[in-house]
Amino acid sequence: LASRDFHPDNTVISIKGVEIGGNELVIMGGPCAVESPEQIDEIARLVKAAGGQVLRGGAFKPRTGPYSFQGVGVEGLEMMAEAGKKHGLLTITEVMTPEYVDVCAEHADILQVGTRNMQNFDLLRKLGTIQTPVLLKRGFSSTYDEFLNAAEYILAGGNPNVMLCERGIRTFETYTRNTLDLTAIPVLHQLSHLPVISDPSHGTGRRELVETMCKASVAAGADGLIVEMHTDPDNSMTGDGVQSLFPDQFAKLLQDLEKLAPLC
Ligand code: PEP
Ligand code: MN
Repeated sequence: LASRDFHPDNTVISIKGVEIGGNELVIMGGPCAVESPEQIDEIARLVKAAGGQVLRGGAFKPRTGPYSFQGVGVEGLEMMAEAGKKHGLLTITEVMTPEYVDVCAEHADILQVGTRNMQNFDLLRKLGTIQTPVLLKRGFSSTYDEFLNAAEYILAGGNPNVMLCERGIRTFETYTRNTLDLTAIPVLHQLSHLPVISDPSHGTGRRELVETMCKASVAAGADGLIVEMHTDPDNSMTGDGVQSLFPDQFAKLLQDLEKLAPLC
């Protein structure tokens, strides 16, 4: 079902008037994690003012270590839904377990499956039973075939609203957090009809590289970008402050991107 052989036309996912996978670029911006009502409200205001369409933020965080901040949980979903509504943005948040799919879907417009859960098959199967759009991140050691098979689980269950997200893979290089595989963008477009989103924040792990790799992703044909932005990155509650843009950098990035492609 994910294959272009089966479905030659591009899939366009329409959410409250925003069309993802059409001719316009969708911009998802926001913090790695929802931290407080004030934090997410202020960042939502800045995402909207810059011209973004979707507010990102994790309420459930898949941390590498069990002692790290794990996210604020269901309250974070409420804070984010409130901020999205107030500022006229769609919202995207990560869901990690099948049990939390329904509550996340009640609060967010798009559900994110993180790189560490790309092959959490029970989660994928559960996401197949609803119609809420899913942004499926590529596993950091997954091939294109494995990635598309993960998408297939959701599609096979009956949910056609899947976006593929390249967020960097693990290579021998350690200078960057991951290696953003730009080649994935045209390859996935060749093999599949699903929209392709790029995540240069996790793909590089370094703020100073995000702008260039956003532009490179658009040049490679990405249908959208998901970008971390924080008002106080040095004090963010996850380690992802180092890859988060400052609000003025985010605003400038969107101005530059508009010259490359129309935004949604
Ligand atoms: C995130 O988007 O903050 C995140 C945890 O992403 P990934 O699953 O790509 O590491
Ligand atoms: Mn993050």
